[in-house]
Amino acid sequence: MSQPAFSIEAAQKPIVPGRVEVAKPDHRGIVPPAEFPPQTANSVLLLTLDSCRYDVLESANVPALKSIGRLYKAMAPAHYTLPAHTSIFAGFTPGCAELHEPYVNPKYAKFFKLIGPGVPGKAEDFVILPGRNIVDGFKRLGYQTIGCGGVGWFRPDTLSGRVLTVDFDRFFWGGRTWALPAQLQFIHRNLLESKGPNFVFLNVGETHVPYYHEGADWDVKHNPCVPFGENNDAAECRRRQTICLEYVDRLVAPLIRAFSTSTIICCADHGDCWGEDGLWEHSVFHPKVFEVPLLFRLGEKPR
Ligand SMILES: [Zn+2]
Repeated sequence: MSQPAFSIEAAQKPIVPGRVEVAKPDHRGIVPPAEFPPQTANSVLLLTLDSCRYDVLESANVPALKSIGRLYKAMAPAHYTLPAHTSIFAGFTPGCAELHEPYVNPKYAKFFKLIGPGVPGKAEDFVILPGRNIVDGFKRLGYQTIGCGGVGWFRPDTLSGRVLTVDFDRFFWGGRTWALPAQLQFIHRNLLESKGPNFVFLNVGETHVPYYHEGADWDVKHNPCVPFGENNDAAECRRRQTICLEYVDRLVAPLIRAFSTSTIICCADHGDCWGEDGLWEHSVFHPKVFEVPLLFRLGEKPR
């Protein structure tokens, strides 16, 4: 795909926002779908497990997530949700700088390279996309772009939340961080309506503080990971995030099956500190905040 000529007219075209939905306050009785319509080999699923630590995913019993591919210990592109997802949506996915391998190291070659800015990598990128970010790029290729947010940076009813959500054809925010059944219902409904191919993005909030999922047997009001907090508990953080991740694995397994011949990228946007060097949670520069899991498998090249 060649570089298009610069056009001031194109730059001044208004951005047409997609349709957004926000969950109803009461999530009780929402049943996550047991199966999803099978997706084409050129469809793409991007899954971000918000705040999930690498060591938690490595030791957790998560067969569906681990079926995606080899688990890499990658470095996140930023230390909190907004810039991490802005980077991911610009093609800078979490990577391993020490590996000279395409996609695992986005400096070497990217899953998704935007036409325009940035220095070419060493090897061929998986796909080159037009657009101001990869969501817009997939939309311009004729994909249906379906997105779901878990954490507050994805609130489409706030101006800051519109930054990450405005380009999706359909976007849903769960209304709270633990909303995976409602998110999966939204994706299911939109995949049934879509003629495809599809670009599906799912930001999972159950792995974010306070580490809680629907029906969990602990008090959601007690957060064991509070920056500058007095009653933090690293063992409880690890126990809860592990249980939440194993819950997420069970619920997303049918979605991963539906994309069995497609491209799937699964990563965290950043990790959390659990008392290392006296630090808690994220949005701070610390190696544990940047250390994240990355798994992927490639389907047909998007076209
Ligand atoms: Zn995040």
